[in-house]
Amino acid sequence: MSNNQPKSRPNQGAPKTNPTRTYSQTKRPTRRLSKAEIARRIFIAKCIIVFCLIFVLGGGVFLLSRSGLFKKSSKTERTMLSSLTSQSTESTTPPETSDTTPAPTDAEKPLSGYTVILDPGHSGEDTGCGWPLNSSEIEEKDITLKIVNAMEEDLTSRGAKVYVTRKTDDTVGIYYRMAEVHLICMDIAKERGELPFSAEKEQELRQKCEKIKQINEWQKFSKEGMGFMAGFGASDDLKLLMDMEAKMKDVVFVSIHINSTGDPAEYEIKHGAAVHFADDTYISSPSHDEGGEPRHDPYFGRNNELNSKFAQMLYDHYVQYFPDMVSYSQAQSHLASAFAVIREQSLVGVLFEVGFITNPHDRDFFKNDENLKKSAIPLDDAIEEYFTSLKDTQSATA
Ligand SMILES: [Zn+2]
Repeated sequence: MSNNQPKSRPNQGAPKTNPTRTYSQTKRPTRRLSKAEIARRIFIAKCIIVFCLIFVLGGGVFLLSRSGLFKKSSKTERTMLSSLTSQSTESTTPPETSDTTPAPTDAEKPLSGYTVILDPGHSGEDTGCGWPLNSSEIEEKDITLKIVNAMEEDLTSRGAKVYVTRKTDDTVGIYYRMAEVHLICMDIAKERGELPFSAEKEQELRQKCEKIKQINEWQKFSKEGMGFMAGFGASDDLKLLMDMEAKMKDVVFVSIHINSTGDPAEYEIKHGAAVHFADDTYISSPSHDEGGEPRHDPYFGRNNELNSKFAQMLYDHYVQYFPDMVSYSQAQSHLASAFAVIREQSLVGVLFEVGFITNPHDRDFFKNDENLKKSAIPLDDAIEEYFTSLKDTQSATA
């Protein structure tokens, strides 16, 4: 016999109750309570009542307290939500608290999402043109830096992302600047996931650009100092970068310079602004040979029309703002050119000559810092108009 066999329970022999019978049907035996028992029950009842009162009052206090906390909590939550909302919809949701700076609107930041690379011409040992010719009291490199500094500040306030090829008077060569432009453009394309070549090629191109920056020659354009960028047409490596840059419609390049003439008979004649833009056909033409620079296969990937259009906008805005700076010759105010800073990269871009340092009127203009600072306004207006016109063209063709 197994020990697991159920043992008989003590009530096993008692009559079974009807499982369907309800509790009310159960008859209870009645008995007479003693006085002591009655007193005991009354005491217990009082205890229960007191306990219930304590419970109800305590619960009420707790609920009131909790109600207050809840109110405070929801206010905090609203404040946080308002903060988050103002971050996610900056242009439409006013901040709830007065100590928060109102988020800028699109109208206040019209250049949001656009990039401008500014190049203040010359620096350090390379002073550019100056006056007087033999002991420059006023030098091109200082004027260009002042104008670019003002442009950078103004463009940034309009929402643009701005890069400059130099911030100081350290000597920065032409090909250093171009290497910097290519590195910036690779950064932008990489951030967008739009690098058109392999990671290995990217590293190779970056190393070549960094090497050019290290050599940083401005006076003697050795082959190493110019690297893969040297010459007319485009080397294979340069072509990769230029194809990438030609597609960057939301990035422009502006190099600021001051003009001069070597002929004293022209000092009074030649004056006013002029703008140079890159054009493939012009650059690929065998008619010019500047400094014996190497020649490569012709390159025809630039936005020649946009270069010309952008250049015209800059000139028009500038002389409208400063009528005295209208060029002495309309034919000389808007020129296809092959300067290295617009030739060795493929962004829409220009070299803008603000005026002639050899002309007495223009020179007085440059001596006034207020004019240099105000020069940013029409130039940046032109940049804004250019990007707006592109946006309008895109939406019209969409
Ligand atoms: Zn110059």
